[in-house]
Amino acid sequence: MLTRRELLAIASRLGMAAVLQPLTLTRVFAQPTFSKDPFTLGVASGDPWHDNVILWTRLAPEPLTGGGMPMVNVEVDWEIASDDGFRNIVRQGTATARPELGHAVHVEVTTLQPGRDYWYRFHAGKETSPVGRTKTAPAPGVGGDQLQFAVCGCNHYETGYFTGFRRIAEEHFDFVIHTGDYIYEDPPAVQTKRPNVVRQHHSDEPYSLTDYRNRYAQYKTDHDLMAAHASAPFIVTSDDHEVDNDYAGVSDEHDTPVEIFLLRRAAAYQAFYEAMPLRAAAIPSGPDMRLYRRLQFGRLLDLEMLDTRQYRSRQACGRLLESHCPAAADPSRTILGAAQERWLFDQLGRSRATWTVLGQQVPTFRRDAVATTPNGRYSMDKWDGYTASRSRLYARLKEMKGTNPIVLSGDVHVHYGADLKIDFDDPRSATVGTEFTNTSLTSGGDGLDVATAWEKIRGDNPHIKYHSARRGYVACTATSQTMRADFKVLDRVTVRDAPIRTAGSLVVEAGRRGSSPA
Ligand code: FE
Ligand code: CA
Repeated sequence: MLTRRELLAIASRLGMAAVLQPLTLTRVFAQPTFSKDPFTLGVASGDPWHDNVILWTRLAPEPLTGGGMPMVNVEVDWEIASDDGFRNIVRQGTATARPELGHAVHVEVTTLQPGRDYWYRFHAGKETSPVGRTKTAPAPGVGGDQLQFAVCGCNHYETGYFTGFRRIAEEHFDFVIHTGDYIYEDPPAVQTKRPNVVRQHHSDEPYSLTDYRNRYAQYKTDHDLMAAHASAPFIVTSDDHEVDNDYAGVSDEHDTPVEIFLLRRAAAYQAFYEAMPLRAAAIPSGPDMRLYRRLQFGRLLDLEMLDTRQYRSRQACGRLLESHCPAAADPSRTILGAAQERWLFDQLGRSRATWTVLGQQVPTFRRDAVATTPNGRYSMDKWDGYTASRSRLYARLKEMKGTNPIVLSGDVHVHYGADLKIDFDDPRSATVGTEFTNTSLTSGGDGLDVATAWEKIRGDNPHIKYHSARRGYVACTATSQTMRADFKVLDRVTVRDAPIRTAGSLVVEAGRRGSSPA
């Protein structure tokens, strides 16, 4: 039982007008009265199955300074309806927002109908959240007409407005895949001297759980980002900046002792779980978080979500752009880790859908980034730095029958469409699949239609069929006949509300590896 003094402390923390009812609650503080909106971070849904989806919110009346909640459990009611006016509520219940998780709520709603739109909202005390729309996956074995999904990532808060998220919201996708860099861990631009920013991070570089919570909260209070989450279920993975730039498994870029870095990784992973509409399987255990998982969309599409950060070997050759690095091909080095690679190859062997999509962070295809030497130069942070892992993956993709592999990636802040070659030195070698790399939503600022170095490097990258160095996202349409990628761009992210346009499109035909311009 709480003492009267403790209750009064809680009440004043919540800005309560008066202490309520028989306050005999020890575990759950059922009916708080908020003096400020606790739903400042909006709502989200994620990881849709055919009968089941995750609904998310986090109570944070003071979002930028730890959340502002008292350290007690709080009941949050949720409801999900088949109409946006909530006349036909199909499920409802009560979840507990716990201090251990920063008062985040992850509700797993079961026994839903497949391939259906739903609307959901939360109530805490007398406050009601914004409404979100979500959608379940098609029923198992069902072909379905088409699936439309966005692929996005790299939304640096300082370098642009999140107009791309607003445009994603307007498209009402079946789902949205986020390939990582949902936050950036940089200190404010006033400290880093980053030029051309449109707004600033509000706090120093995050290290503690509270630091990371506040950083996610700053991003999530953006109304364009909130609108994207409220428009469709998100399927997320995490790249480097959710923890620290270019970290690799247990190592960061500053040679911090492993056991020290893992304390930071644990804090960052917990904040990531708290901030994302993830299933309970992703609840971190210390510095470990299971993000790789399979989602199925009828007979049309199997999605293997991967984690190329947590289990990878350290980058080879110690530097980021290398022209000659034998260690990059060392078969004992890995980007997926042995367990995830085994899991993935097993999943791929069982894939029967028209499309098998790998959702992951960094480009798998060879990318000569600076053609200054006869050998070219390659980023050791991408699969180019883990070529034995790539050879094993591509060999596995080549073996697959009756399904078409599509790889998704982000991270490099350029749109690419690339055909995946079993031997990138031999243009006549087998094409094992096609990759769509989403440019950043904002990272890097406005960008250019053509990357500065493109004319110099295009001859060395004949498998790259499309590129744009603007900001935006990829809109994919999957049918039983084709997978189409529309590369969406915004000409400006440093001004608000720029329009979106399709700068180019590629199509892959079912049963045929490799892409062609649409
Ligand atoms: Fe990025
Ligand atoms: Ca990245």
